[in-house]
Order: sequence, then C-alpha cells, then structure tokens
Amino acid sequence: MRYLILSDLHANLQALDAVLTDADQHGYDKVLVLGDLVGYGADPGAVIDRTLDLDPFAMIRGNHDKVCAGLEPAVNFNEVAKASVEWTAACLTSAQIETLAALQKGPRLVRTGPARGRRGQPAPIEICHGSPFDEDYYIFNTDDAWRAMEASSARICLFGHTHVPGVFIAPAKDELPEEPVDGRIKLPERGRVLINVGAVGQPRDGDPRAAYGILDIKQNTLDLLRVAYDIAGAQARIREAGLPEWLAARLERGQ
Ligand code: ZN
Repeated sequence: MRYLILSDLHANLQALDAVLTDADQHGYDKVLVLGDLVGYGADPGAVIDRTLDLDPFAMIRGNHDKVCAGLEPAVNFNEVAKASVEWTAACLTSAQIETLAALQKGPRLVRTGPARGRRGQPAPIEICHGSPFDEDYYIFNTDDAWRAMEASSARICLFGHTHVPGVFIAPAKDELPEEPVDGRIKLPERGRVLINVGAVGQPRDGDPRAAYGILDIKQNTLDLLRVAYDIAGAQARIREAGLPEWLAARLERGQ
C-alpha cells in the first residue's frame, strides 16, 4: 500500500497540479491530507475541489482551514496571514467553507489493515497537522520530536505545519536525514518514526520546489519528493488577487 502524503497546499493550484502529475508517475494507492488546504495562495476554491476529487482516505484540518471556516479567531496570525484568511473566506462558496469546517481535528489514526492489530502493537500510521499533542504546535527540533513521538499512538506519525521536510527516528533522537531531503529513505522495521514531507504550496526550507511524499507501508520506504512548478503563474495569481506582495515573493525563495 502506497500513501501519497500532501500537506500545506495553501491554495497553490500550480504547485498542486505539478505534484499530482509527478505522483501519478510514481504511483500511489491512497491519499492522506495533513491540512492547510487554504491560506496564502490565490486559488483556495480550486485547491479544495481538486483535493476532494482525490477522495482522500484520511484528511485533517490545519490552522488556516479552521480560521478560514470561522471556527477560531485569527489571534495567532500575523498581518499577512490575517489578510489572506479574510480574502480567502470572502472568495469561497458556502459549500467550500462547509468542507473546511467539517475537516476533522488531528491527530487521526489511519487504519491500514484489520481493525484489531496485534496485541501491544501500535497502529501503523497517525496523521496530524502540527503535532499529536496540539494541532497548532510547531515541531522544529529533536526535543519537540521526542515529545511528539511519546504522544503519538502510532508507529509512524506524519505531520506538517512547519513547511520544512524532516524525518525523526526513535530511539536515536537524531534528525534524519540532514542530507539529502530528496530521495528514498528505508524506514526502520521497529521503533517510532516522525515524518514531515514538507509543503506542497509554500516550501520554507530554501528549496522553492513543491514538496510531497509517498510512504510505502509494505516496503517500509519513504520517498521525499520535490517537483518544479509554475512559480511565476502562482505569483501572478497572488498579485492579481491583490494579496500581500510578500506572499508572491517568498514562493521563489522557498521561504
Ligand atoms: Zn501551513
């Protein structure tokens, strides 16, 4: 079973299209979506619709989704994020807003086999937006990662929110890989793994290419993938929409 992992799409239709084309070539069976479908980018409605068309096996909300749906005020948002969330809410249809409002809160276990696993074995996969203990928490370092692993009910925990790819493997408490963040990683047979495949719509690790992943639960491999996309097209849409210029500029820097 191969899971396509998408996180932090952020209304970037050009990036999502490129990722889906690339993912088709790699091949996958089911789709997991880790939240933040909207915010920052200029095609929130199209990105919601395209994501629903994928018929995700499991999908959870991100902080932008819930604020956009009116479930929470934008208290922790900076001025740019606030401006984008207001613009986004105004341009979505009521059905699209309802879709965002109905997204589940993470963490969520992903059932990959029979409902009852072997006794004492954690479920194979859990998805969350920020962390398993707080959906809005940013996991940046090994201390955060350790706390997240302890809180997770699954062997493999997938998260997003930071827009920075990274893999943490217990019990070494080391972050892997420093290099490369592009390519195939053989996951350990035992022990907990915490994975961020990076952001589809707004990468922040200095590499402007769209990021996503494919987890093969049978082969026990993770492909961290990057794909070039039409950045100029996404920037033009942001500028046409009158969204803050910084949102366009950061895409080409990958920050
Ligand atoms: Zn995000």
